Amino acid sequence: VTASETLTERLNRGDVIVLDGGIGSELEARGIPMNYVAWCGLANLEHQDIVESVHEDYIAAGADVITANTFAIGRKSFEAAGCGDRFVEANQRAVQAARAARDRAAEREVAVAGAVSGVTARSLAAAKREDRTILDEDALWRGYREQASILADAGVDLLLLEMINSPAFGPIAVAAALETGLPVWLGVSPGFRVNGDRAEPDHTTMIHGEISLESLLDELLRPELQAVNVMHATTDVVESALEIVVHRWNGPVGVYPESGTYTRPHWEFGELSPEAFLGLARGWVDRGAQIVGGCCGIRPAHIRAIRDGLPNLAPQDPFKHSPSRR
Ligand SMILES: [Zn+2]
Repeated sequence: VTASETLTERLNRGDVIVLDGGIGSELEARGIPMNYVAWCGLANLEHQDIVESVHEDYIAAGADVITANTFAIGRKSFEAAGCGDRFVEANQRAVQAARAARDRAAEREVAVAGAVSGVTARSLAAAKREDRTILDEDALWRGYREQASILADAGVDLLLLEMINSPAFGPIAVAAALETGLPVWLGVSPGFRVNGDRAEPDHTTMIHGEISLESLLDELLRPELQAVNVMHATTDVVESALEIVVHRWNGPVGVYPESGTYTRPHWEFGELSPEAFLGLARGWVDRGAQIVGGCCGIRPAHIRAIRDGLPNLAPQDPFKHSPSRR
């Protein structure tokens, strides 16, 4: 039985699955320099031992799923950072680091996820900043297929699509990830707006001020997805976003929020304590979240708190009476 089969079985029987916390922010907290264009992606090449130690700490904290440090690895951003020739290697080494940590530290079944994000599309779009909606579809297909297949070949158990926040690239990212045949979790990030180098909270609009979460989900949801997560969002917006997701998606849903603010290329940690995080996480599970973890600014102590404090089984969700999927 493979790690992805075990994970699928656990989701099907209603287990609460604990995801890890932030990787890039945790690397920064441990003194790894962040790159302006490639953020935490270069750490896979220069600090693989520290990347492994972050994964080990999340495993020790009780994560069922750990995420390889591939979120920020985009071919274009690596080229801009002067490492374009090491794009494949960086992805492979990120997966190797997560698998090595699992081999060394896991005392129970742990799945290794590969992250594929909006970075791929954003780095393409950056060249055409005057109109962010103009994206070359062939390039998007190539970019998403390439990274998804590198990660699959390197041995991840599932793929996490992260910050898939635009219909301009999202459907392609979803389709390319599904082509691998691996379980795919879709991650959307409501409640902020990118303003120059800062990501600013913006609760008046759900996604970058360009499209509502409802409309975005209508573009992205495919029955082949295994789960849909609200991620990299502030804790005050995830509850309303979760409600929107469970009205549109009858499969497993999850929440892995952030704590703090990003000013490129640095994460400023927030004040959320592990105890307060557990209190919020209990509410999300009560509202149907079956996957809970953290994104930027959420640390091993937070994951430990939810591992120890959350129920093992998700309660039946009140929104999920209807068997129909939109
Ligand atoms: Zn994040």
